[in-house]
Amino acid sequence: SKRDASQPEFIQAVTEVLNSLRPVVEKNEELYRKNAILERITEPDRQIMFRVPWVDDNGQVQVNRGFRVQFNNAIGPYKGGLRLHPSVNLGIIKFLGFEQIFKNSLTTLPIGGGKGGSDFDPKGKSDREIMAFCQSFMTELAKYIGADIDVPAGDIGTGAREIGFMFGQYKRIKNLYEGVLTGKGLTYGGSLARTQATGYGLLYLTEELIKCHSDNIAGKTVAVSGSGNVAIYAIEKAQQLGAKVVTCSDSTGWIYDESGIDVELLKEVKEVKRARLTEYAAAKPSAQYFAKKNGEHGVWQYKVDVALPCATQNELDLEDAKALVANGVKYVCEGANMPTTIDATEYFQANGVCFVGGKAANAGGVATSALEMSQNSERLSWTFEEVDSKLKNIMVGIYHNIDEAAKEYGMEGNYVAGANIAGFKKVVEAMLAQGVC
Ligand code: NDP
Repeated sequence: SKRDASQPEFIQAVTEVLNSLRPVVEKNEELYRKNAILERITEPDRQIMFRVPWVDDNGQVQVNRGFRVQFNNAIGPYKGGLRLHPSVNLGIIKFLGFEQIFKNSLTTLPIGGGKGGSDFDPKGKSDREIMAFCQSFMTELAKYIGADIDVPAGDIGTGAREIGFMFGQYKRIKNLYEGVLTGKGLTYGGSLARTQATGYGLLYLTEELIKCHSDNIAGKTVAVSGSGNVAIYAIEKAQQLGAKVVTCSDSTGWIYDESGIDVELLKEVKEVKRARLTEYAAAKPSAQYFAKKNGEHGVWQYKVDVALPCATQNELDLEDAKALVANGVKYVCEGANMPTTIDATEYFQANGVCFVGGKAANAGGVATSALEMSQNSERLSWTFEEVDSKLKNIMVGIYHNIDEAAKEYGMEGNYVAGANIAGFKKVVEAMLAQGVC
C-alpha cells in the first residue's frame, strides 16, 4: 500500500511472501477477499515507538528511538527479537516482524509474530552505558509486554548481556518474576542450547536438505558471513558434521582461512574480547584478513559447496549469487533474515541451487525460545540434550513440511514458496476461526 512506500525492506518482504502465496490465494479467492486476509496480515496489530533517553559516560544525555511492532497474535503471544543497530527504523522492524509471523508458525509452536529494537549502536559503549540504555528502553517497553502478551528476545546487538539488563529492569518495575524475555542467562530462567540454537538449527536443516538430495554434508566446503551469534554456532555445528568452513566476516571485513576456521579462537575474539576479525588473523598464521571496501564479493567469492549468509539483510546480491554459482555452489541456506536480495534468490533457483530462506532455515532460534517459555511456565529446566534433540526434530520437520507444501502446489524444490505457504496456512486458519479482529 502507498502508506508503506517509504519502507523498502518491508515492501521487499511482503512482495516476496505475497508472490509465492498466489496459488494458495487463487484456490480460495472469494474467501480471502471477503475476509481481507492479505490486508489484515500485512497491517500490524500495533506499532509502538518511543523515546529512549540515557546518560553516557561523559554525563551527556543521549536520545534514541525505541520500537516494538506487535504484528500478529493469531496463534500465540507476540514473539520476536530486539535489534540494536544504527540502521534500525520502523520499516526494518516491520519487515522483521512480518517475516516472524510465518517463521513462528513453521516451528509448530504457539507463538505469534513481533519484532522490536532501537537505533542505538552498542559498538564501543561501556558496560555502564549499555546498562543505562537497556534500563531506559525497558522502562517504556515494560508497559506493552508480558509472559502471555509479548515475549521479546535477542537479535543483532542484543545478546545475553543486554537481555540480562533488560530482564532486571522489567522485574524491578513490574515486581513480577516471569518469562517475559528469552535468551536469558542460565541462572535466571534461560534455556540450555538457546545460545547455539539458530546456528545449530540452520545446520540441522541444511544437513537434512543435503541428505534428501542423496548427498552428504561431511566433506563439504562452506562460506559463512557474519561472526556473531548465528554465524559462530553455524560454523561450530558445520565442523561437527564434518564440513570445512573457510571464510566468515564482520561489518568491516572478512577472513579466509584455508585450514578451516578455528571456532574456539573466533569465540574468544568475538564473544569474550568483543574485538574485530583482525585479531583472529593476527593470532592464526593460516588466516588472511581483508578490509571491506565497496562492491567486492567478500565471503562469496570463494569456491564452496554451501553458502550460509548469517549477518544481515540484503548482504548477498545478484553479483554475489553469480560468483557463487560460477564457483559451483549447490546449497544456500539463510541464517540471517532476508540476507539474499530477491533477484539473487531467483538466480539461485534458476540455476539449480537448493535455496532455503531464513523463515525456515533460521527458525531454530525462535523455536528454542519457545522451548525456553515452556520451561519457564513449568518452572523446570531441561538438559542440553533434551533441548537440542527437540531442536533437531523441529528443524528436520520444518524441512519436510516446506518441501511437501511446495510439492502440493506444483512448485517442487521451491523452498521459499513452500515456507511461505506452510507458515501462512496455519495463521490464516486461526485468523478465520477468531473472526474479524
Ligand atoms: P549479532 O549481532 O550477534 O551478529 C551479527 C553479525 O553480522 C556480526 O558479525 C556483525 O558484524 C554482522 N553485521 C551486522 N550488521 C551488519 C551490516 N549492516 N553489514 C555487515 N555486517 C553486519 O547478530 P545475530 O548473529 O544474532 O544475527 C544475525 C542475523 O540472524 C540477523 O539477520 C538476525 O535477525 C538473524 N537471526 C538471529 C537469530 C538469533 O537467534 N540470534 C534468530 C533468527 C535470525 P560486527 O561483528 O562488525 O558487528
